[in-house]
Amino acid sequence: MSRIGSLARANVQALTPYQSARRLGGNGDVWLNANEYPQSVPFTLSQQTLNRYPECQPVQVIERYAAYAGLSREQVLVSRGADEGIELLMRAFCEPGQDAVLFCPPTYGMYSVSAETIGIEYRTVPAIDGWQLNLPAIRAALEGVRLVYVCSPNNPTANLVNPQDIRQLLEMTRDKALVVVDEAYIEFCPQATLSSWLAEWPQLVILRTLSKAFALAGLRCGFTLANPEVIALLMKVIAPYPLSTPVADIAAQALSTEGIALMRQHVAELNASREWLIAQLRNCRCVSQVFPSETNYILVRFSHSAEIFKRLWDQGIILRDQNTQPGLAGCLRISIGTRSECERLMDALTTLSTSPTFQEQA
Ligand SMILES: *Cc1c(COP(=O)(O)O)cnc(C)c1O
Repeated sequence: MSRIGSLARANVQALTPYQSARRLGGNGDVWLNANEYPQSVPFTLSQQTLNRYPECQPVQVIERYAAYAGLSREQVLVSRGADEGIELLMRAFCEPGQDAVLFCPPTYGMYSVSAETIGIEYRTVPAIDGWQLNLPAIRAALEGVRLVYVCSPNNPTANLVNPQDIRQLLEMTRDKALVVVDEAYIEFCPQATLSSWLAEWPQLVILRTLSKAFALAGLRCGFTLANPEVIALLMKVIAPYPLSTPVADIAAQALSTEGIALMRQHVAELNASREWLIAQLRNCRCVSQVFPSETNYILVRFSHSAEIFKRLWDQGIILRDQNTQPGLAGCLRISIGTRSECERLMDALTTLSTSPTFQEQA
């Protein structure tokens, strides 16, 4: 055994890396575990300039995203996925070993992983009824907090956070901390975006991605929307060439008028499949609770979730287990696939429901 491991930073030695759907593996043919768009969208590369370094912030991508979001160019930063945005904010705004970040579980796993990697304390204030913000508890925990991450719609619970509560959060963090609203799924409920609030709240930051509704998880392209002063600070810490030329090329196409229209058509189809699946799941005997969803996934509580998860896995239908998240015992998260994938899932669950093990309700 080499001793190299002991040379790593203590927080890295202690770190549990993000359990991405890809890392968890599985041998499926129905992948409903990563909230990806179920089919690949054809794009072709148009740039033949790989001998040159790319632009740090490709102008066409920034212009098109700004137009799409109804903002000015100075309010937009593009990065290697929204995940990089999560981390850039910590690197620009938090002193390791001194400042803290705060978020409200059950929620997205990368806020804690990035904080641990960089060596920043994180505080959690569990969500209350309907997975909403516990504002008094947040207020009591704000000392030393520089960033508050609010995921809306929230992953994995699929609900929106009350905008009135976010407004109160902005009031209590004025001149103290940034409020980072993660809108990775906002295309599935576009009316709920807080982007128009950026003009009013200098400490508001919004995260977006091309990984979900835009069907480009493999591209690794995300956006941070904020006031120009925040964007300028993030520009100081971002890598000199965060996006490769092919990424910028395809992102610009995805953000063209036709690209956005295609995305909206996909969203309408997925939203219809989601309503179909919710209705089916509510009639399924092995299901004890189906939570409402504003997104391309559904959180479902099963009476025997571990067995259901395993039996589906063995049939090549891969879901995401949420059992270990606070308040989510017995819950699995199901991404909306193609209609035929949704049907295959329901066929499998219906068959499982009739087997003796799954008969009694929880
Ligand atoms: C998928 C996801 C992200 C990450 O997006 P990338 O652009 O793929 O890095 C960020 N936040 C939430 C809530 C997500 O579900």
